[in-house]
Amino acid sequence: MSDSGPAPSPIVIAGAGIGGLTAALTLRQAGHDVVLMDKARDLAEVGAGLQLSPNACTVLNQLGLLDDVVELGYAPGNLRIWSGKSGKQISEVRLGDFVRGRHGAPFVVIHRADLQQALLKKVKDTPGISLQLGTELTNAKTGQSGNLVCTYQSLDQIGTLTCKALIGADGVWSKTRRLIPNHKNAQFSGHVAYRSTIPIEKAPKRWQQDSGLWLHKDSHLVHYPVKSGKELNIVALATEDWQDETWSAPVSVELLLRRFHDWPTESRNVLHTPDSWLKWALCAVDASGPWTHGNIALLGDAAHAMLPYMAQGAAMAIEDAAVLATHLPADVDNIPAALRAYERIRKPRVVRIQNTGFRNAKIFHMSGVFAAARDMVLKSSKPENLTARFDYIYSWSPA
Ligand SMILES: Cc1cc2nc3c(=O)[nH]c(=O)nc-3n(C[C@H](O)[C@H](O)[C@H](O)COP(=O)(O)OP(=O)(O)OC[C@H]3O[C@@H](n4cnc5c(N)ncnc54)[C@H](O)[C@@H]3O)c2cc1C
Repeated sequence: MSDSGPAPSPIVIAGAGIGGLTAALTLRQAGHDVVLMDKARDLAEVGAGLQLSPNACTVLNQLGLLDDVVELGYAPGNLRIWSGKSGKQISEVRLGDFVRGRHGAPFVVIHRADLQQALLKKVKDTPGISLQLGTELTNAKTGQSGNLVCTYQSLDQIGTLTCKALIGADGVWSKTRRLIPNHKNAQFSGHVAYRSTIPIEKAPKRWQQDSGLWLHKDSHLVHYPVKSGKELNIVALATEDWQDETWSAPVSVELLLRRFHDWPTESRNVLHTPDSWLKWALCAVDASGPWTHGNIALLGDAAHAMLPYMAQGAAMAIEDAAVLATHLPADVDNIPAALRAYERIRKPRVVRIQNTGFRNAKIFHMSGVFAAARDMVLKSSKPENLTARFDYIYSWSPA
């Protein structure tokens, strides 16, 4: 990479996860030259599945990616809620045609690697986006011209790149966030997630069609089909300490079964099926902290990593990318003001959804009389009414 980059003054995006890839496309659509750098030499999404609600699908549709996403993913008709104590169904939330009719976009579940590949292909096919893998953003400072000068490390080389703005889409352990005064650091939430996938035919029949949410004391289980319905994604979540040295680690099935020892045999049999499991520490970044400073802005997990108990982390990153681009037209003359406006618009919504995720952590993991009261409310609610509670999330579209 030369000192001046592929264009006189591109926007640099640090991080080519779901947020960074989407932002590269939206900012390019707005007319900017974009340099998208990721420290990884190959982009290979780890983890398993992802639920994409209509608010995220609306943005993907505007980028011309929704047909691919629907084809690679799966559109469940319902989310069935089960008791992880008795094994019986408690309630259901209507998805499928009901959600599509209500919000004009589908609710899709997809393997993360499939979403990433669809975004990546579009990025590679789009002139004006320069993808730089194996390139880690290490610093950024304002130069004499008032433009930003980013420092990056690529292989053994250290280089600089002048840009008009830096977007930190570099995830929960963001380096860009450190450039923002008074930023809030990521904190371990006291929750962990075990993730894997199995061939769909190895799952019990009643797990194969719809999404499932199982609730039990201090733990819950989420599953849904991915890979056009050929595989089942399973996430087992629990309140737990983190003792490993890394933030994700392979884990033995025996350890997982010990943690889920009081679950029904049917669920334990499913947990026993995968050859391997990965365990993740769930960390959060307080979304009410600052997201911008001068010509620098954060996006996605870098700004607001959240518990996955609303299944909205990636959706919020995708929304961020769409809103950021509406505030940065090609002829924008006051970039810091535009970035502050982006932060002002996005923050209340993201803070609300992050807080709902924290609240769900308590509700999902209730026990005793509290769990019984929760289940009674769920049982007496109509499936369509349970879906309607998410209207404020699903009905969103970029201005
Ligand atoms: C168990 C679990 C289940 C989830 N389920 C859902 C769900 O159903 N629906 C949903 O919407 N969300 C879900 N999420 C949340 C979602 O996965 C994240 O919010 C989302 O992936 C964040 O994307 P991102 O692009 O902001 O960050 P990341 O995906 O973390 O990407 C950051 C990228 O930045 C790169 N990078 C880091 N540092 C640098 C640097 N200095 N320079 C250059 N590159 C750098 C990294 O290599 C990486 O590629 C879930 C999360 C978990 C843990």
